[in-house]
Amino acid sequence: MKLVFTILLNFFVLNALCNKITILIDPGHGGKDPGHLPLKDTLMNEKDIALEIALKVGNYLTYNLSNVEVLYTRTTDIYPTLDERVDQANNNKVDYMLSVHVNGSPNSNIYGTETHIHNFDAKTSYKWARLIEEQFKTRAGRKSRGVKTAADIGHSIQVLKHTKMPTVLVECGFITNTSEGKYLNSVYGQEIIASAIFRATREFLKAKHPKIDFSPPQDQTNQPDEPHYKVQIMASIDKIDTEIKEFKKLDYSVERVFVESTSMYKYKYYVGPFSNKKDAKKAQKSVQSNGFNDAFVVYFE
Ligand SMILES: [Zn+2]
Repeated sequence: MKLVFTILLNFFVLNALCNKITILIDPGHGGKDPGHLPLKDTLMNEKDIALEIALKVGNYLTYNLSNVEVLYTRTTDIYPTLDERVDQANNNKVDYMLSVHVNGSPNSNIYGTETHIHNFDAKTSYKWARLIEEQFKTRAGRKSRGVKTAADIGHSIQVLKHTKMPTVLVECGFITNTSEGKYLNSVYGQEIIASAIFRATREFLKAKHPKIDFSPPQDQTNQPDEPHYKVQIMASIDKIDTEIKEFKKLDYSVERVFVESTSMYKYKYYVGPFSNKKDAKKAQKSVQSNGFNDAFVVYFE
């Protein structure tokens, strides 16, 4: 007992001295529990999409923020019970827990994202959840169905109710909706969703822990999932609204970037990011077939 106490004490002291934040990422379901099933057999189950997105979020956090340690309830196709997930969070005294799911409904017209918290007394969780939904809207261009509590859905969720630290459960969209299902099955969709969760979490952590230095680690040469490629679809002299129908009809959302340059073209328009060249090439073909014949792949270090 004394030894356990000493180890725990050391853990606390070390964490306090290092000013390090620990986040437990929990990809929902797994193993014998597929979660929600897709409309077609050829598409992925909830458990597989949740794992893909969760691992990407973990990589974004690990490679882009200092002083954040990421733990997972699972990194493969196994099923830890809900009790085990809660125990892992509580016994390891993690600072935050993020559970990643995708939604499903018998009504295939329903789509959009939701972030769940236990109740509105969980103020820290609520702040984090709101930022995630905000990023889903702005960064990912998703329809946000908002922050939900146990009261909204008529029952409590075990990982939200029994964990002792701020915890959110993200429903990244409905795999039972044809177009959202397609998005969630695509590497592009998974990247964007993960980067939206990452951006929200970064903003949340910075506000919550102003004394901790979260600036990106110096050595960024090993960033497996850091996006490396984008497809530039055009450049312009004046600012073009990214909501125009020519952009909207693309399978990808368009990002506008202002460039300080002597060239008359001050704005560049990209789709992406993509972590590998193959996906970028695929996107390039797709935007070219939609009228942007000059689109080309750009590598970002
Ligand atoms: Zn689920």
